[in-house]
Amino acid sequence: MFADLPSAPLHPLRLPWLAQAGVECAILRLDLIDPLISGNKWFKLQRPLQRARQAGSPGLISLGGNHSNHLHALAAAGRRFGFATAGLLRGHRQDTPTVRDLEAFGMQLHWLGYAGYRARHHQDFWRPWQARYPGWHCIAEGGAGEDGLVGCAQIVEQARAGLGALGWADYHAWWLAVGTGTTLAGLVQAEQGAHPVHGALAVPEDHGVAQNVAALVGVSGYHLHAACRGGFARIDEALLDFIAASERYSEVPLEALYTGKALLALREQVEAGRFARGTRLIFVHTGGLQGRRGYL
Ligand SMILES: *Cc1c(COP(=O)(O)O)cnc(C)c1O
Repeated sequence: MFADLPSAPLHPLRLPWLAQAGVECAILRLDLIDPLISGNKWFKLQRPLQRARQAGSPGLISLGGNHSNHLHALAAAGRRFGFATAGLLRGHRQDTPTVRDLEAFGMQLHWLGYAGYRARHHQDFWRPWQARYPGWHCIAEGGAGEDGLVGCAQIVEQARAGLGALGWADYHAWWLAVGTGTTLAGLVQAEQGAHPVHGALAVPEDHGVAQNVAALVGVSGYHLHAACRGGFARIDEALLDFIAASERYSEVPLEALYTGKALLALREQVEAGRFARGTRLIFVHTGGLQGRRGYL
């Protein structure tokens, strides 16, 4: 049903600082699996969509900001698979390219303000929405949690399926951007310790990612690296210059909230000698390119 996801291309990522350090990197292009339902969010929505279908739910509800990749993927998936969708948004009504897409995909939008959005962790948060949308399936912010991680095992399968074409018998480690840690946890679970997973934190270190991941998969099989550069969605000139130079050289499009920061954090680690010559890494392009219309 939703399980026949198109496969993501895996191709060499060519950048001068990788070559200099003798580190080989392949990039798994989750941004290319679908023109609308992009990136890791597609994998994270697998289980919620299955649950909604099995329960005969008329629709799905979730929450996010006005550039949210998660709401964008949910709205697109809802339209494609015949579910209604509702989005609960942070802050006050704003007109962004993402918001216009959500509306075009038929998502019902509700603006919660900032205080209203902060209440999302309260026990009773969902009750009025469940009353308003009876029988709808509610998804945590960002598709986080146990239901989100299950579909991420397919990311590992897709990468393995691409190794032969690269001429790689195996690889040493993963590198990817982390928001809630759900995608990383999915990789850790699928790997069962076979290859370590390195997560570059797109959010500040006090956002509880380490606790989220530990609750999902325990404390081994992965490493978290600081990468947010002053806060989630903080963008600085050095980052934008790095992204522009990387895009020119590698011909891979990046955005500044996740993939650009993750790649910059990888460069720092590579230049610090963290990976021995001959190391083979898989960098997961987690998508999110729709969001950059808001700031690039
Ligand atoms: C949501 C998102 C992430 C973070 O995924 P988590 O599973 O929440 O850690 C990384 N990259 C992009 C592009 C995203 O949209």
